[in-house]
Amino acid sequence: MLPKNQIAERLAAVQVRMVDAARRAGREPSSVRLVLASKTQPPEALAAAFAAGAREFGENYVQEGVIKRAALSELDIRWHLIGHLQTNKARAAVRTFSLIQTLDSERLAAALFRLHPTPLMPVLIEINLAGESSKAGISPERAEAFINSVRQQVDIQGLMAIPPPVAEDRARQFFRQLRELRDRLAARTGLTLPELSMGMTDDFEAAILEGATIVRVGRAVFGERKEG
Ligand SMILES: *Cc1c(COP(=O)(O)O)cnc(C)c1O
Repeated sequence: MLPKNQIAERLAAVQVRMVDAARRAGREPSSVRLVLASKTQPPEALAAAFAAGAREFGENYVQEGVIKRAALSELDIRWHLIGHLQTNKARAAVRTFSLIQTLDSERLAAALFRLHPTPLMPVLIEINLAGESSKAGISPERAEAFINSVRQQVDIQGLMAIPPPVAEDRARQFFRQLRELRDRLAARTGLTLPELSMGMTDDFEAAILEGATIVRVGRAVFGERKEG
């Protein structure tokens, strides 16, 4: 883990770049939230970011989120699930996370409804923009039908995507595609779909220029992850 003061400095630098990008886009800086992608980081690293002002963290694995949430229970953190959710982990997930960003099946929506009927569980729908078979997510073509089949079971707040790793200008096209899809789906379903979760360390500014309301940033704040 990086020293605490470095985490604080890197967080501040990301926040400055976010404000800058929002201004360039003619957007209110407060309309973009930073979710720190904290997979593999020890609770102490999250605590350092919290002390420096971060309030939202995204975990990829339910069990890792459960452990970190318990370790940091005295801190007022909003936890997001940003990794794939298996239906058999849904019970722990609804107890741990305030937003599940990766809804990708009818079966999972039904499980979330059983576990969290009132109010409905807040979710984003994960969209597989490039049709990558290695990735989870609903295809853009199927998104409208999917929304209509799960909208009574979960509180759909918007869309999330992890575009394929490409250069920043190409990434920006994916981000625009996701925003246009959101606009289309909102018009056709009558849902507001306010949230667009897109953009990571290498491309969060491009995402903000295209309308991201949530960026998910890991390495820019915590440093490179050890592969493992
Ligand atoms: C790891 C991860 C991120 C953050 O990636 P960085 O490149 O470290 O900023 C964002 N979203 C998801 C779903 C991730 O798994």
